[in-house]
Amino acid sequence: MNGPDSIVIVGGGHAGAQLCASLATSHQGVRIDLVCEEADLPYHRPPLSKSYVKHPEETPQLHRSAAWYAQAGIRVHQADPAIAIDRHARTLRLRSGATLHYQWLVLATGTRARQLPHLHADLDNVLVLRNAADALRLREQLPAMQHLMVLGGGFIGLEVAATAQALGKQVRVLEAAPRLLMRSASAELAAHVLQSHRASGIEVQLGATVDDFRIEANRLVSLRVNGVQQPVDQLLLGIGALPEMTLAEVAGLECGNGIAVDASMRTSDPAILAIGDCALFPGLRASGALRLESVQNANDQAKVAAATMLDQPQTYQAVPWFWTEQGSLRIQMAGLLPKNGSCWRRPGKDETSFSLLHYEQGELRCVESVNAPADHMGARKLLEAGVSPAAERACDPALALRSLATPDG
Ligand SMILES: Cc1cc2nc3c(=O)[nH]c(=O)nc-3n(C[C@H](O)[C@H](O)[C@H](O)COP(=O)(O)OP(=O)(O)OC[C@H]3O[C@@H](n4cnc5c(N)ncnc54)[C@H](O)[C@@H]3O)c2cc1C
Repeated sequence: MNGPDSIVIVGGGHAGAQLCASLATSHQGVRIDLVCEEADLPYHRPPLSKSYVKHPEETPQLHRSAAWYAQAGIRVHQADPAIAIDRHARTLRLRSGATLHYQWLVLATGTRARQLPHLHADLDNVLVLRNAADALRLREQLPAMQHLMVLGGGFIGLEVAATAQALGKQVRVLEAAPRLLMRSASAELAAHVLQSHRASGIEVQLGATVDDFRIEANRLVSLRVNGVQQPVDQLLLGIGALPEMTLAEVAGLECGNGIAVDASMRTSDPAILAIGDCALFPGLRASGALRLESVQNANDQAKVAAATMLDQPQTYQAVPWFWTEQGSLRIQMAGLLPKNGSCWRRPGKDETSFSLLHYEQGELRCVESVNAPADHMGARKLLEAGVSPAAERACDPALALRSLATPDG
């Protein structure tokens, strides 16, 4: 078996960092370059909307130290983004002018925050949250802020809303859809989240459409929401993220809502792989192409990409899982929500904890747990084992666990 001689990874996020870790143990003599747009070494993104915003002394949590990369023989190019791929010559050009030759190229470029035309983070009091620089800006502006308006009731917007509220700020969330977490959680879970945030003092306006806005001296002064002017002190845009696929598109790789890959993470050019938030991959059970934004997906796709390059191909079929922390809610999700499923509520150890089990045609597809980590871990095991206990039995923890041993359960 011939191993690769040069691997270039574009993007020092979760997927890029995990790929370095997977290759470090087995690469033996391969030249590895990690090309980073950001100045920091790869760091954990989830704390940025959670503990980092609350604690002024906290620094980004690195995946690995500079010494680790040096010892693993991985060359890290910091603050030097890739700007062009030459597929014919198999080279990658960096902004500094450096050119790297590759045998394998891996695109792990993640996403960028969605912004609105004329209403973006160049304004003094408008923020987005994708990276450590954004989080630092938010943290520095928080002390002087009286009121935070959050546009978008998705995970990141709600996490920041809960944090700001806990720090004593007045918080208002504007969501255009008729409910929160429209793209990512069930209606049952969204209703609980709404009730919990409102009870803690966060104002949430659903069906809120921004018709107009006023900007003076590079500051957003007000938003007109459903025809009514609302003054703005500080605004966080939490309206989702777009896959970063400029390099791939310019290089002529097949793209849709992400860089198209097969189950081994190969793009339409077999020498180029894509992983993590930017990758559009074949979903399980003919569910169509999927793009997921989660740490689990980034880590597991990186492991599959490493196997592909080391000539030990695997098929990506990991059970998706995700978590979010919003005030007193620790929400964990395993599996994918079915389009037309039935939902069972399993009570937890007290009134603040429960799980929602989503079934489709008798098969367990997804479990959403609120303050119930044991249920979440059990759900992941059941979904990984492909075991679907009958709904009534799954609502009993002892029976659900027993059904792991008896797959016909
Ligand atoms: C604030 C926040 C909180 C989150 N919380 C959670 C959570 O609680 N649970 C969870 O599961 N997920 C969470 N996520 C999502 C999770 O962090 C992402 O799914 C994960 O980071 C994806 O990893 P990635 O490597 O694909 O992309 P990223 O981690 O986004 O990394 C992509 C990197 O590529 C770089 N890049 C882009 N273009 C270039 C280029 N041309 N040249 C060089 N570098 C380039 C970017 O600068 C970036 O550093 C959160 C995300 C954010 C932003």
